[in-house]
Amino acid sequence: MHKYCLTLAAAVLAAAPIVHAQSASGVDLKAMDMTANPCQNFYQYACGAWRKANPIPPDQSRWARFNELAERNLAIERGILEKAGDSQIGNFYGACMDESAIEQRGIQPIAPILAAITAVTSKAQLAAVMVRLHHDGVRALFSFSVRPDDKNAGQEIVHIDQGGLGLPDRDYYLKTDARSLELRRQYEDHVHAMFVLLGKAEGQPVTDPEAGAASVMKVESVLAKASMDRVARRDPANTYHKMTVDQLAGLTPDFEWKQYLTTVGIPPVESVDVVAPDFVKGLDALIANTSLADLKTYLRWHVLAAHGDMLPRAFDEEDFRFNEHILRGTAEMPARWKRCVRATDRALGEALGQEFVKEAFHGASKQRALQLVGEIEGEMRKDIENAAWMTPGTKQQAVAKLQDVTNKIGYPDKWRDYSSVKVTRDDYFGDVLRAYNFEQRRNFAKLGKPVDKSEWGMTPPTVNAYYSPNMNNINFPAGILQPPFYNPNASDAVNYGAVGTVIGHELTHGFDDEGRKYDGEGNMRDWWTADDARNFEARADCLVKEYDGFSPVPGVKLKGKLTLGENAADNGGIHLAYMALLDSLSKHMEGKLDGFTPQQQFFLGYAQIWCENDTEQSSRVQAATNPHSPGEFRANGVLQNMPEFEQAFSCKAGDAMVSADPCRIW
Ligand SMILES: [Zn+2]
Repeated sequence: MHKYCLTLAAAVLAAAPIVHAQSASGVDLKAMDMTANPCQNFYQYACGAWRKANPIPPDQSRWARFNELAERNLAIERGILEKAGDSQIGNFYGACMDESAIEQRGIQPIAPILAAITAVTSKAQLAAVMVRLHHDGVRALFSFSVRPDDKNAGQEIVHIDQGGLGLPDRDYYLKTDARSLELRRQYEDHVHAMFVLLGKAEGQPVTDPEAGAASVMKVESVLAKASMDRVARRDPANTYHKMTVDQLAGLTPDFEWKQYLTTVGIPPVESVDVVAPDFVKGLDALIANTSLADLKTYLRWHVLAAHGDMLPRAFDEEDFRFNEHILRGTAEMPARWKRCVRATDRALGEALGQEFVKEAFHGASKQRALQLVGEIEGEMRKDIENAAWMTPGTKQQAVAKLQDVTNKIGYPDKWRDYSSVKVTRDDYFGDVLRAYNFEQRRNFAKLGKPVDKSEWGMTPPTVNAYYSPNMNNINFPAGILQPPFYNPNASDAVNYGAVGTVIGHELTHGFDDEGRKYDGEGNMRDWWTADDARNFEARADCLVKEYDGFSPVPGVKLKGKLTLGENAADNGGIHLAYMALLDSLSKHMEGKLDGFTPQQQFFLGYAQIWCENDTEQSSRVQAATNPHSPGEFRANGVLQNMPEFEQAFSCKAGDAMVSADPCRIW
């Protein structure tokens, strides 16, 4: 059910195309701070000049190599869309760009949704209105989707999960430090401001918008308290609760689940996976104990929260002001074209992606990537077989799982058919909703059918990669198979350090703290002996403690348990890529390039994919919610665990980049 990716989807992108003056090795020499000591702070050594030369663009909250590349892909997509004319993607993009049409329609697109909420006269009607809201893309109260069954991964099952919060995490509602209190006050101001705008647009000023905001905060705080925290959710045993519809109805008498399930648009089902039963119970108590008026206010708010950015500019700007400016420190709203390219990617991603691949992805990169994947898988097998802490029986199970891993490179074999989605050039809101409905119907139609492992969870231009535990596959979109990740003109050493570690990272996810709880068929199944599991936990605990000690912003610490899976994947992935490099060097020895040995090039190639600048606000949100560590620690945190790094740069015990207690799982 979960996907583990390489980085949080780069939600915001910006600025000019990048020109790489190519060095002999492919190491980005201009990015380096040669005055830094690689044994004291390798991140500064590899990325110092890049960080100085790359302040965060005003329309971003973080700026990393991922964003540079995403920006380049975005420009390619823009070119495609501007030439797309009267095609589906051309019209979708055109409708998004037509701000005057959006302005003219005012709040008319959401009026029917709001009217449906207004018409609710009893709590018994909540299920019906939730069907309507979920159908219209309003993510209120809980989330509902169809995904593989964790214990029967060939089959799809309904997942009912927690949701319905407007802030990024439950902790934002529960913490009582001054900063958290201030942020909640700012959030209430934002809700208030949106209600005022709505009242103005409806021609009936809201009598008491402050009270509205307070109702929203009250309802969301109850949902937050009932929500499972992110660390607990990392254990798949905590998020699997298959039950019959009767059991669910018995658990939560105040919400008409049967009515919801029979009208939402799925085939009849007998059982569902209630991901977080305590949340569902909390939701039920909320409905029982809250006035209908407060619940309706909360639902109205979520219509604005979901769709504010598609409404006239005043709503759009207020939405940006809180969610991007206050929360993440972004100075300016991105150019309209960027937002519209991204909206097209979200709505019709494989239609746009198909054109992107024609323009920007070459068969040679696919061949090279496939070859690298094969090499890295071979190294993983050796790594498992050589693991001194694992017994032969468990190793055998691990190797069997590894052999079942499949990989997908670039783009889908079969493109999604969007021909049933009606798109018109003068109705942006309608276009978005129809595309959303299409995806929802597609999702619901999976029930009762075998899981389609050929489906992609990311669009081709995406600069990211992922492992899916239920499908046991690793996926590399075309968007990431470009410099600086994969550079056909760079040395093998640099490519092993960059794309090689990315491949190793995704593969290691199959064997991280969560991935290890699934087998080769994608089922949650314990294939570990108790001793081997204990050894794994002890090794994982070393990483937890290490990353718990990292601080991205004064006063803020990373959460070692939240980031464990990603850190395990980083730390394991680089070993696999390094072993592949050594194998390659044993066949054809390479000399120094740009003054660096192949081993040094490898570590520079690795560290340089993590060069990054963040706003302070964004660093705080990331530390609270992002399972990935920031670039600085992805570089230094990993390398300080590696004796191979120590050797390559002749570092010594006592240097900051040489851990006294190096961690290693894989
Ligand atoms: Zn990952």
